[in-house]
Amino acid sequence: MISIKTAFSSLLRCGFKAVASTGCRHASRQTPVQATGYNFELTDQQKEMQETARKFAREEVIPKAAEYDRTGAYPWDLIKKAHSLGLMTAGIPEEYGGLGLGLFETCLIGEELAYGCTGFATAMGANELGMAPLQLFGNEEQKKEYLSRLAKEPLLCAYCVTEPGTGSDVAGVKTRATKNKDGDYVINGQKMWITNGGVANWYFLLARSNPDPKAPQREAFTGFIVERDTPGVVVGRKEMNMGQRCSDTRGITFEDVVVPKKNVLVKEGAGFKIAMGAFDLTRPPVAAGAVGLAQRAFDEATKYAFQRKAFGSHLAEFQAIQFMLADMAIGIETSRLAYYRAAWMFDHGIRNTYWASIAKCLAGDVANKAAADAVQIFGGAGYNTEYPVEKLMRDAKIYQIYEGTAQIQRIIIAREHLTKAKQMLS
Ligand SMILES: Cc1cc2nc3c(=O)[nH]c(=O)nc-3n(C[C@H](O)[C@H](O)[C@H](O)COP(=O)(O)OP(=O)(O)OC[C@H]3O[C@@H](n4cnc5c(N)ncnc54)[C@H](O)[C@@H]3O)c2cc1C
Repeated sequence: MISIKTAFSSLLRCGFKAVASTGCRHASRQTPVQATGYNFELTDQQKEMQETARKFAREEVIPKAAEYDRTGAYPWDLIKKAHSLGLMTAGIPEEYGGLGLGLFETCLIGEELAYGCTGFATAMGANELGMAPLQLFGNEEQKKEYLSRLAKEPLLCAYCVTEPGTGSDVAGVKTRATKNKDGDYVINGQKMWITNGGVANWYFLLARSNPDPKAPQREAFTGFIVERDTPGVVVGRKEMNMGQRCSDTRGITFEDVVVPKKNVLVKEGAGFKIAMGAFDLTRPPVAAGAVGLAQRAFDEATKYAFQRKAFGSHLAEFQAIQFMLADMAIGIETSRLAYYRAAWMFDHGIRNTYWASIAKCLAGDVANKAAADAVQIFGGAGYNTEYPVEKLMRDAKIYQIYEGTAQIQRIIIAREHLTKAKQMLS
């Protein structure tokens, strides 16, 4: 199998550099390129990356997915292989050892891997979430240290924001950061539902640094990078979730964990903006993952509808079945376009909060409906673990919960819409 790394370096030799650099997250974020009008065609290079990820998902991920789902074991072998192919480092800038590709390309890869198994795709893709605060807000020294590590070896990182007492309401975070006499920080508190919590090499962590309950949220929190092996970091048991079972979800306790001041992102008090800002970069890939799952449900259901007969006809001949397939097609095509647009905007330096939430919300809902309808089309067989769609239905649910629930996405979309409407009407 040709790796993205190999394909990418040959593309560079063929003059791909210009295209690649306009697609680079960082370069593009700072120097927006001129948009050139609507174009729904992927470039040859993008098709090649998509094909590499597709082949890996079909040949390596799908054959192992059911066993990983059954055992809940962490998919280290797949992670290592994905890393060696360049699938895990596509979005890390070249200067830190990654391929320096855009969010659009990262999403294309993510959709293909999720088609194979969203448990694996989440395990791998959670690096996107852990890295995002650093990619967007880290200084040169921090990026060199922590992004280069992830590019060099198949290591993982994690995003530690949610706590036992608060998830959607991030301003309710209670983990405390206090300064010691050396100007470093001492962290105490508990985090919950942290993807890659037990396997990460380092964490992004949000803590309250201003104890005054009246302090405005934009000044009350600080974002830190915390090394996993720092004394006082206590990782909890692996949670057994409804779906995506090979992904590692845990609670983590921080007991007098000393974090050097050089590991503060931006400055004390800037954490809330950092933690929230990361989602513009991470929600499009989550949407892409949900689209991958929906596409798999669609393909499995279509195949079955041609195989299974009832009342002397193939299921595919019944209009009731055709309509379920048509609804899946509508959902998949529109949510794919939505994540394409959200990622494309990010790569072009255009604020994409509204579109990132639309894509994440729509794709999450579509994945759940597509998986449930696929189970329906399979009938009794759909309810059984011997067939693939039962797993898809369990795996789909999380797309309406993590990285902002379906309700929180709608709140964001409405807020963005109403703010704009107010400006236009005033
Ligand atoms: C498998 C898994 C992996 C996760 N990975 C991570 C991770 O890596 N890092 C991390 O920090 N977190 C992670 N999370 C946490 C996840 O982001 C939260 O579970 C999610 O944001 C919801 O928070 P909550 O569970 O506290 O629910 P709550 O905030 O308590 O919400 C409960 C319900 O109330 C609704 N609700 C809340 N507020 C409102 C409102 N204002 N209006 C309308 N409805 C509302 C919600 O939509 C939801 O339906 C993960 C969770 C899971 C299950």
